[in-house]
Amino acid sequence: MPGKSREWNNPNRTPPSPVGQGSRFTLRCQSDGGIFLFGNRSHGGAVAPILLRLPELCGAPIRIETVAKLRDRHGPVHAGSFIRERRIAFDCEPREFPRVLVHELFHFVWVRQGNPARRAYEAMLGREILCGQTGELGWSAEWRKNALTPADIGGRTRRWREYACESFCDSAAWLFSGTPRHGEYTLGREARLRRKAWFFVTLKAGPVSI
Ligand SMILES: [Zn+2]
Repeated sequence: MPGKSREWNNPNRTPPSPVGQGSRFTLRCQSDGGIFLFGNRSHGGAVAPILLRLPELCGAPIRIETVAKLRDRHGPVHAGSFIRERRIAFDCEPREFPRVLVHELFHFVWVRQGNPARRAYEAMLGREILCGQTGELGWSAEWRKNALTPADIGGRTRRWREYACESFCDSAAWLFSGTPRHGEYTLGREARLRRKAWFFVTLKAGPVSI
């Protein structure tokens, strides 16, 4: 368990700032170490520094495991979340692990956020598109954004809702994974700042449910 890490369990340790310095409030780290169960021991060491960057989380443990040749219905994927089974399967290179882990973890957050927060995030995305804002903060969201039709956006179709969910997870990965630069970050600066503000306002109230 990564919770055995002394550094991770030290409540006095100041977590590093997320992407974009100057946040006006502190994001607290998980202190009980019980958030993940590991099928592969090497994941434990990789997870500890990532958790220090995240808001405080609460919820039952999630199992982290490695699965070779992972696919979803669209083709090969780096990881997959199984919300009801509380399990995340990975098939990614170690250098991509932080971004992929945070992305997958925020699939659990999205489910728990509730309709008002999800609709507010969707409204922000709708305004971006209305203003001609192209790009995203990860390919998972970007290819879905590029495939949207006006009917998807206006009708909140399944494609729109999947895009919104992937955008939420990719934005969280950009903010919290400790990966400040990546070839898949194509969203403009102003939109990035609005998303960052949205996340901080929405998540600052307390522990984030997963
Ligand atoms: Zn995803």
